[in-house]
Amino acid sequence: MSRRTVFVDSDILVVGGGMGGCGATYESRYWGRDLKIVCVEKANIERSGAVAQGLYAINCYMGMHWNENQPEDHVRYARNDLMGLVREDLGYDIARHVDATVHKFEEWGLPIMKDPKTGRYQREGKWQIMIHGESYKPLVAEAARKAASAVYNRIMVTHLLMDSKRPNRVAGAVGFNVRNGDFYVFRAKAVIVAAGGASHIFKPRAVGEGMGRTWYAPWSSASAYALPILAGAKMTQMENRIVLTRFKDGYGPVGAYFLHLKTYTQNAYGQDYEAFWRDSIERMVGDYVNHHPVPTCLRNHALLEEVKAGRGPIRMVTKEAFKDPHKETVGWENFLGMTIGQAVVWASQNIDPKEINPELTTSEPYVMGSHATCSGAWASGPEDYAPAEYQWGYNRMMTVEGLFGAGDTIGGTAHKFSSGSFTEGRIAAKAAVKYVMERSSDQPEVSETEYTRLKKIIYQPLENYRIGRNEIVAGTVSPSYLLPLHGLQRLEKIMDEYVGGISSHYTTNEPLLTRGLELLTMLKEDLDYLGAEDLHQLQRAWELQHRVLASECVTQHTLFRQETRWPGYYYRADHPKLDDKDWHCFTLSRYDRDSGRWQMEKAPVYHIID
Ligand SMILES: Cc1cc2nc3c(=O)[nH]c(=O)nc-3n(C[C@H](O)[C@H](O)[C@H](O)COP(=O)(O)OP(=O)(O)OC[C@H]3O[C@@H](n4cnc5c(N)ncnc54)[C@H](O)[C@@H]3O)c2cc1C
Repeated sequence: MSRRTVFVDSDILVVGGGMGGCGATYESRYWGRDLKIVCVEKANIERSGAVAQGLYAINCYMGMHWNENQPEDHVRYARNDLMGLVREDLGYDIARHVDATVHKFEEWGLPIMKDPKTGRYQREGKWQIMIHGESYKPLVAEAARKAASAVYNRIMVTHLLMDSKRPNRVAGAVGFNVRNGDFYVFRAKAVIVAAGGASHIFKPRAVGEGMGRTWYAPWSSASAYALPILAGAKMTQMENRIVLTRFKDGYGPVGAYFLHLKTYTQNAYGQDYEAFWRDSIERMVGDYVNHHPVPTCLRNHALLEEVKAGRGPIRMVTKEAFKDPHKETVGWENFLGMTIGQAVVWASQNIDPKEINPELTTSEPYVMGSHATCSGAWASGPEDYAPAEYQWGYNRMMTVEGLFGAGDTIGGTAHKFSSGSFTEGRIAAKAAVKYVMERSSDQPEVSETEYTRLKKIIYQPLENYRIGRNEIVAGTVSPSYLLPLHGLQRLEKIMDEYVGGISSHYTTNEPLLTRGLELLTMLKEDLDYLGAEDLHQLQRAWELQHRVLASECVTQHTLFRQETRWPGYYYRADHPKLDDKDWHCFTLSRYDRDSGRWQMEKAPVYHIID
C-alpha cells in the first residue's frame, strides 16, 4: 500500500513534547520570535510523557530568593548521590535557572502548596516542594502549544536525518502517524531531542496481566537514546541504570512518606537494618557510605542484603504516622495525585496503612537521565562555566552538529526531575536558536534517496505481517515473523539474566555481559523480521528497535566500567568494589551505524565546586 508523504520544514524541530520538549518549544519562541518552531510527539502533548498522570511534588527547586539553597548546594547533593560522578557544569547550569521555571509554572496556574507559617512554598524535603499537580502536564503543554508554530501529535519519530553532504550534521527526522499511517519528513536546521527515558528494557517485576505496570512510564521507550546513538552521538554513563525502592506491586513513590510523613523502614522482625550493613558497605565503597545523605544506591544495597539474609520483607512503618488525620490525607493524596494504581493495589490487597505496614521492594532497572541517575548523551556545556574539554559547541549540543537534547536525553546530570528537565529544554532551546541564527545561510540538505530508503524500512513490519500471517495455523506465532511483544519479552529476558536485572540480584560479570551482547546481536538480526498487525503494533515495533539499541549501549558501558560503582543499582561480581583510582571518570561510547561497532573511552570528571 502506498503511503502519503508529508513534508514539514522548520528552523527548530523538537522531538518529544514532555517536560524537556515543552520547555524547549516555549523557550525557542522567546529567543526566536520569527523562527518556525515545530514540536513532534508520539502521543498528545496534553497528557504525554512521564508527568502524564500528574505529580505531587516538584523535586528540584532551590528557593534562592528565600536563601534556602544555592545552585552549588545542589551540585554537591547530586555529586554525592551519584558516588562522585556528575557533570558539575551542566548541573550547576540547571540549578541556577530552575527557580525561574517553577515561578513560571505558578504564574501559569499550577497550585503550589504554601507553608501557612512562613508563606514560602511547602517543602517536602530539602529540594522538593509540594504541588496539587494532577494538571501539571496540560498546563505546561499549553505554554508549548501557544509558543509552537505547529505541534504534530501522534507521530512516532523513528530516525534522525543527516545532511547529505556533511555526515555529522543533523538535518531533521522521519516518522509516521500512528493513527493514519502517513509518513513524515521533518526538515530542520536544528533538532532538540527530548524523548524521555527507558522502561521495559529489563524484565519487570510485574508480569502477565500486570506487565504494563512499571515504575517509569511504560511508553518511555528509549527513543531519547536510540535516535542520537544512530546518528553517531557520543553517549555517557549508560551503565548508570536506576533501581528504585518503592511500595510493592504498585511502584508507589516513597519520597513524601519518608520526607514529609517521617515514616521509616524496618525488617520483618521490626529491626532497623540499615546501620547493620554500614561496615560491609564501607569495605566496598569506602567513605561514600559516611556521607550525608547516604547515597540512594547504598540504601538500596542495605535493603537487598537484608532480604538476601532472609529477614524480609522490608516494610514502611506507616501505622504511627497515619494516626494523624492530616498525614493520613497527605499519604493517600500523594498516590491519588500521581500513582493511583498504588491506592488500588492496597485496596485490592486489604492494606490499610493505618493498620498494616506496607511492604517495600526494589524495582527492575531503568535507564534515564533526569531522575536520580544520569545516563544519556554527552553534551557541550555552558560557555561561562564548563571546562574547555566539555565545550565543543553550543550549550547542550551533542557531538553531532545541530543536535541538542534535554531532560532524560542528556547524560551526566541527575536530579533535574520535572522542573529541571523543563529548564534544560529552555537552555537547549536558547542555544539552538543562537546556532540557527548564527548560521542563517546554513540549510542542511536532506537526500530523497535516504528518506525513501527509510520509508521502506519503517513500514516493513506491516508487510512482514501481511505475508507471514498466511503461515499461521493457530494462535499468533508465525515461523516468518517476530511480534513486537515477543521481541520485547526476549529483550527483557536477556537484559535481566545477563546484564544485571532482578532475577540475578542485579549482578553480572564479564562472561555474562559478553554472552548478553551475543544474544542481543542475534535479537537485532531478527528485528528485520518484526511483524506488525496494524499501526499500533508498528509503533510497538519501532519502540522495540529503540529499546534494543539502547540496551546494547547499556551492556557495552557495563562491560567497559570494570568496577562496582553503585552497589544497589548493579554489581560487577568480577570487580566487586568501587575503584576511584581507575574509574573516577565518565564512560563514553560511540556507535558506528555502518559497521555496528561500539567505541568506548573514558572522559575526566572535573570537580568545579568544592
Ligand atoms: C514514576 C515517576 C515519578 C516521578 N516523580 C517526580 C516527582 O515527584 N517530581 C518531579 O519533579 N519529577 C518526577 N519525575 C520525573 C519527571 O517526570 C521527569 O524527570 C521528566 O518528565 C523528564 O522529562 P523528559 O522531557 O525527559 O521526558 P518526558 O516528560 O517523559 O517526555 C518525553 C516525551 O517524548 C515523547 N516521545 C518519546 N519517544 C518519542 C518518539 N520516538 N517520537 C515522538 N515522541 C516521543 C513521549 O511521548 C513524551 O511525551 C517522576 C518520573 C516518574 C516516571
